[in-house]
Amino acid sequence: MENREQSLFQRVLHFFCREALMNARSTFAAVLAAAIFVSGTSFAGDAAMKLKYLGHAAFELTTAAGAKIVFDPYTAGAFETLACDAIRGDFDVAITSHDHADHTCEEVLARSKNKVSKAGKATFGVVVVESFATFHDDAKGKKRGANLVSIVEADGFRVAHLGDLGHPITAKELPKLVGVDVMMIPVGGYYTIDAAAAAAIVKEFAPKIVVPMHYKTSKVDFPIAPVDSFTKLMKTVEKAGASEIVLTKEKLPARTTVVVLDPAN
Ligand SMILES: [Zn+2]
Repeated sequence: MENREQSLFQRVLHFFCREALMNARSTFAAVLAAAIFVSGTSFAGDAAMKLKYLGHAAFELTTAAGAKIVFDPYTAGAFETLACDAIRGDFDVAITSHDHADHTCEEVLARSKNKVSKAGKATFGVVVVESFATFHDDAKGKKRGANLVSIVEADGFRVAHLGDLGHPITAKELPKLVGVDVMMIPVGGYYTIDAAAAAAIVKEFAPKIVVPMHYKTSKVDFPIAPVDSFTKLMKTVEKAGASEIVLTKEKLPARTTVVVLDPAN
């Protein structure tokens, strides 16, 4: 009798456990579906590496495990021309291409556990960052100094940020950049490569997804060109209609696709 009661109790317990598990599963699926919907792109899927455009040249990359990387965090109000809202949150790694105020924010760096601002390779848990010395102009740095091109490897993706690159680069000079999954590239000209030079770099390195940055918007009043100057040169362009994309291997585009993200800030 005691055995029977016990087994009845166990059966009831199993039932509730199963219910709870199923509820948890459907809640998880609903949250995932909502997240994919919000991200509003065709590259969504199961895994959850996310890339968010904060504004100007700043991006937040979040790995599936939740590690947060920030690229080129601007100082809000820099040069009295950058009207993007301040960047919030803490970061595991901050990568800065150079120390100009529109690419480096001391407050954000203070909220970042690790910093990358020099060429070389460094590992932070599951995140590997490899950075390469380039220049902010086409005169070997004589006009605007040095610049860093960085490639982050995490979750099986290679995500590159070209900083304020100011000159053409070739696959021979930077072989690691060939075929990266995502390339964030400046396109606005004047301080960086212009749209045509950016298009040539995209052709040379054939990244899967290209995310343009460093162009004129209602909040970025530098004498630089708007994003259309670049997208009109490209064959496959998608406007995400969101500030974030979710990356999954299965849904990476077969041919180079430009994805225009709306700045979050
Ligand atoms: Zn800049």
